[in-house]
Amino acid sequence: MQFRDLKKQYEVLKPQMDAALLEVAASSQYIGGPQVKQLEGRLAEYVGVKHCITCANGTDALHLALMAWGVGPGDAVFVPDFTFFATGEVVSALGATPVFYDVDPATFNADPISLEKAVRAVKAEGKLRLNAVTDVDLFGLPADHENVAAVAEFYGMFFLEDAAQGFGGMLHGKRNGAFGDAAATSFFPAKPLGCYGDGGAVFTNSDDTAALVRSLCVHGKGSNKYDNIRIGMNSRLDTLQAAILLVKMDAFEGYELADVNAAAAMYSEALAGLDVILPTVPQGWFSSWAQYTLRLKDAAQRDAVQAFLREQGVPSNVYYPKPMHEQKAFAGHGQYVSCPVTEELCATVLSLPMHPYLDRRTVDTVAAALKKALG
Ligand SMILES: *Cc1c(COP(=O)(O)O)cnc(C)c1O
Repeated sequence: MQFRDLKKQYEVLKPQMDAALLEVAASSQYIGGPQVKQLEGRLAEYVGVKHCITCANGTDALHLALMAWGVGPGDAVFVPDFTFFATGEVVSALGATPVFYDVDPATFNADPISLEKAVRAVKAEGKLRLNAVTDVDLFGLPADHENVAAVAEFYGMFFLEDAAQGFGGMLHGKRNGAFGDAAATSFFPAKPLGCYGDGGAVFTNSDDTAALVRSLCVHGKGSNKYDNIRIGMNSRLDTLQAAILLVKMDAFEGYELADVNAAAAMYSEALAGLDVILPTVPQGWFSSWAQYTLRLKDAAQRDAVQAFLREQGVPSNVYYPKPMHEQKAFAGHGQYVSCPVTEELCATVLSLPMHPYLDRRTVDTVAAALKKALG
């Protein structure tokens, strides 16, 4: 059993995919080929924003947006405590201070009340400039963007949506990637829309931010690549990855997003009645199900269940085992509020195999193994 069945996806897409790959190979336009522009136009339209700028990976996408806003030493950037390391890493990489805030136990996403508490604590201390807020569409579910945006706006901060796991999700009819002054997504193979390697993109409605990101991702270019007006980086999406993503977008829009939601519904049905907490999608929210994540009673039960599933040939993963504020790399950084919910989640979450090609038989196998594990 695969945790995320990328092989099956390739088999289904093989004719179109092979043709797309060979076309790029024959064209020899390996960097900046026409597929890159075509993909950017298509993604911007799908997400519902004015600009999409592709880049080398999701981490760079976050980094580029913060760079465009001039985030640097002396700045506070607010980051959910329950996320992948990169959300905080890019803040530290720019010399700014990540300030961690807690999440909601039901959605695993940004808790705007904890966020505001952290903002007030930093403001009261008076050492750091309030610069930006990030939230994360964890496991595909949109964060509470409207309330996070309200806090960012009230305190005069930029708002960056980390949509690395959230592509395709929707909140009140608006797609993930369309919230915030800018959003970042990732095309890492296991994300909802993945390529065959690394890739990422920045989304924004701001002409200024878009122009800055376009310059920053090509060595701070001015009128051309050899006119360099600022320090940037080298972060581009290869033509090959863009061609792959164009084929994958057909499948994503055509059926994958619907099918992964059907897989979630099959799980919820098959697991009903078991003594575990199933993931919830609030009214008005729509998930792209990057993960299907349960909550167990405590760390001992979670670890025992995971070991039992492994024996039964059912892969599972713990996203994430450690809160950001406990990561050694952030030691001594920005802890202004406690994050008990994140600590609890890190001890109790378990993600099951999840992807659009999951069939009922596999769901039933996972459910039976889980039932036995809970004994
Ligand atoms: C995957 C991920 C990233 C980083 O994306 P890469 O493409 O791997 O650099 C950032 N934030 C979150 C929440 C992620 O899940």
